[in-house]
This record gives sequence, C-alpha cells and structure tokens, in this order.
Amino acid sequence: MGVPDGPYDPIGMCGFIGVYGPDGTDVFPDVYDALLAVQHRGQDAAGIVTFNEGLHAQRAPGLVRDIFDERSATHLKGELGIGHVRYPTVGAGLSDDVQPFHVALPTGIAMAHNGNVTNFLDLKGRYFPQRGIRLSSTCDLEAILYVFALELGKTAAGEPLPDRVFKAVRGVFDVVRGAYSVVGALADRGLFAFRDPFGIKPLVLGERDTPRGKAFAVASETAALDAIGFKRVRDLEAGEALFVDENRKLHFRKLATKPHRPCIFELVYFARPDSFLDDVSVSRARVRFGEALGEKWKREAPPVDHVIPIPETSCTAAQAMARVMGVPYREGLVKNRYVGRTFIMPSQKKRQDAIRRKLNPIRLEFEGKRVLLVDDSIVRGNTARALVRLARDAGATWVGFASTSPPLVSPCPYGIDMATKTEFIARGRTVDEVRRELGADALVYLDLEEMEKAAQPPDHRPPIEFCTACFTGNYPTGDVTPEMLAAIEHERIASRETVAAR
Ligand code: SF4
Repeated sequence: MGVPDGPYDPIGMCGFIGVYGPDGTDVFPDVYDALLAVQHRGQDAAGIVTFNEGLHAQRAPGLVRDIFDERSATHLKGELGIGHVRYPTVGAGLSDDVQPFHVALPTGIAMAHNGNVTNFLDLKGRYFPQRGIRLSSTCDLEAILYVFALELGKTAAGEPLPDRVFKAVRGVFDVVRGAYSVVGALADRGLFAFRDPFGIKPLVLGERDTPRGKAFAVASETAALDAIGFKRVRDLEAGEALFVDENRKLHFRKLATKPHRPCIFELVYFARPDSFLDDVSVSRARVRFGEALGEKWKREAPPVDHVIPIPETSCTAAQAMARVMGVPYREGLVKNRYVGRTFIMPSQKKRQDAIRRKLNPIRLEFEGKRVLLVDDSIVRGNTARALVRLARDAGATWVGFASTSPPLVSPCPYGIDMATKTEFIARGRTVDEVRRELGADALVYLDLEEMEKAAQPPDHRPPIEFCTACFTGNYPTGDVTPEMLAAIEHERIASRETVAAR
C-alpha cells in the first residue's frame, strides 16, 4: 500500500516503549526519543507516564513532537516510564482512550499495549459486570489492565513481587484472548512486559550501561532501542513475561506453551527496515521478498524497462527485484511527506487528486516506457488503481504491477486495521480479475510459500512459523469466529467514522 497515512488504504497498529533507568535519573528524554522512533506505528495519539514520588502523565491526540515539549520534561520526572503511540483499532479514537492507562489499586499500575483483545466485547459485557466492574473506555487495554490488577490483588502481599506479577499475567492469559504485547510499570517497584501466548505481536528487551548502573528498556521494535542507545538483549518468547525489579534485576517466566506465530505482515509493511523482529532483519526479509518476486515476474510476465517502487515500504524489495530482473530501478514517484491526514473522498476524481498530492511522478521515468510498479501489498486496490492511472497519465506505454505479499483476503482480528472482509479487492476474485480492476497490463503477487520461505533468517532452526491469517483466513489462536470478526469490523467502521469526523 506504500502510502500508509493516506485516506484509502488505512492500516493501523500501535507502538510502545518502557524504560527503567538507574535511581535518580529521568527517563523522559529516552521515552520521548523512542516514541519518535516508533511513530510510524501510530500517528493518532501519544502518551507518557513516569513515576518517581508519584505518577506523572501526559496524553493527547496528535504526533509525539506536537504533544510533548520542554514543560513535559520538567513535569514527567522519574527513573521509570512508559510511552505509547496509537492508531485506534478497537477503541473509537477518543481522547479518553489515549494510552498509557493507569489504576491506583492494588498498587499504582500504568500499562500500554499493542494488539487487540478479540473477546473484549464479551469481557466488557459479561465478565466485568459479573464482578461489579464497569469499564469506562472503549479501548481493549482497559480489559487487560483490570484483569491484571484484579489478579495482582488476589496474590499475597508477602510473596516475592516477581511471582505476584507473573501470577497476574497468567490470570490475563486465562481470561484475555487475542494478540497483545504489553508494557507496564508498578509505581516505584518495577517495569513489566509480556507477550501474548502465541507471540503474534513483537516485544524486544534492551539494555544500556550508564555511569550510575544499568538501564533496561522494552519496545515494539529494535529501532526504538537503537534510537536511545540501548543494545538489543533478546525478543521475549511467545507467552513469556519479564519483570525488572527495583534493584534492576531481571526476572523471566514462560507462562504459556502455545506455538509461536509472529505476524508476517510486520516484515512486509509495519516494521521499520532497520529493525530486527524475532531474529529477522526486516530489511533483509524485504530483499528476499523482492528477489523471489523478481524470479516469479521473469517466469510469468513480460519484460519491462523500469522497476518503480511505491514509496517507501516497497523500495527495498523493488531494488532487489530490479537486480534479479536485470532492469534499472528508478524512484519515479516522489512522496510529499508533509501531506497529513486528508478527508475521505468518495469520487474517483477526488481520489486521483489526493494521490497526486502525495505522490508526484517524475515524467522522464515514465514517458514511452514499459514500467513495473511495486508495492508491498494491495488492500482495497484504490491506491494501486490510482497509481496505474498516474503512470499512464505520465506517459507510460505499458504498466505492470507487483505486490511483495500474496493477495490479502481476510481481516486481521489481532490489532491491524487494514480492511473489512468485503473491502479486500482480492477476496472472491482471481488474480486476472484483480488486474482488470486495477487497470494494469500485468499483475504478479508473491506466493505465500515463497513469502514464508523468504521471511526466514539464514540458518534459523527450526524455521519460524508465522501468522499469515490475513492471506489465508487460518487464524492461529483458533478461537476467531465469524461473529467475532463481524463485531470487530463493526467497531472498526465506527472508529474510522469517528476519526474521519474529527
Ligand atoms: S492476520 Fe495478518 S496482519 Fe494480522 S497478525 Fe496475522 S499476519 Fe499479522
């Protein structure tokens, strides 16, 4: 889709960071810089909570750079802090729902997450009311936070704190379904993090030596650790929890034994190319996607003069594709980074105008040429269709299209807001029918098997088995029902309408 902040193929997720520095330090600058590094994971809202003598919080809709300033640095004091950037999935994008959330009982707890609770509506409608609790937000994090707090409250105060935290996480796993990576802080007592039983969402631990002692951080991507000078220690395993106690001692516990199924779409689109996820270099994976797709293009489609990426996610793969095909790679579309959110525009003419505001063709690269446009994926097809037209208007004599991932056909219930079921252009259509819908002269998708093979890091044993449900409809958690998908889609449509109306 290549143009992630556009109005036509919106796609969403979240990012977070948690930092526990040595006593007497302030982690706000690190949390802020790390949030900037994961801003690509959500531009809707951001928040930071820190602890020293008390809890300090600042949360608002908008971009990280616009929300926090010098006054934030004087207010958000403390050596323990967590931060979050949001793209609304379940949760209507309201100001009240900006993370991190916090509760005072049984001890001060702040929490943020990336993912989606698939049984949120059931928890909100039945589980919590049966316990006399009424959730006040429309965000699924509240369900995780309250289950965690309830379970922590059941543990004996005399038990070692790591054991209490791990019991509370186990309680979350027993009750909360879906995919979620969570970071949290216990007031003055420690930093915790956990990854859902299938490890669908990423979560990585880092450390930094400082003159005052070690600092630890957990983040959605290693790029956030790099930005603040932390060295990657390792990714948390599926169903594993971590607690960093007040002496900065690390405690790990594996609390679930489900198979690990990390999201393959992180490699295709979400993650920064400079990140590593579960030992996979995102950049190298995209190179391998491009190489495999280049070989397939050579087998199945006619020769072209230029390979042109849809900036920016597909650039790495398109370069590899061009190399394999032995044709020039040309950055023939220039992206205007300063076009922000635009309004939903129904007519084809307006869509075309919006694409032009975002991507301007370098005519020299198109005039009289047979061009191949490369994107990371095709969701609804609106962007791809507009770009094929743009290429023809810029003088291309023949326009092919290639996707570095297979046809998207099933909604993601795990926190990725890409489309509802009926919106996927490839659902119920053959590749040739999609090609005709896009107006392209040829269309080639990377095969699922090729993508799974190309995603493997060299020499990784056993091979990683990824979640590929948006390409197959096979949901690894095994508990996704049509009713659940319908309810999540209903929430998402309402959420989008709320955001569009703002
Ligand atoms: S369904 Fe697709 S986007 Fe969602 S977690 Fe699985 S691979 Fe990722």
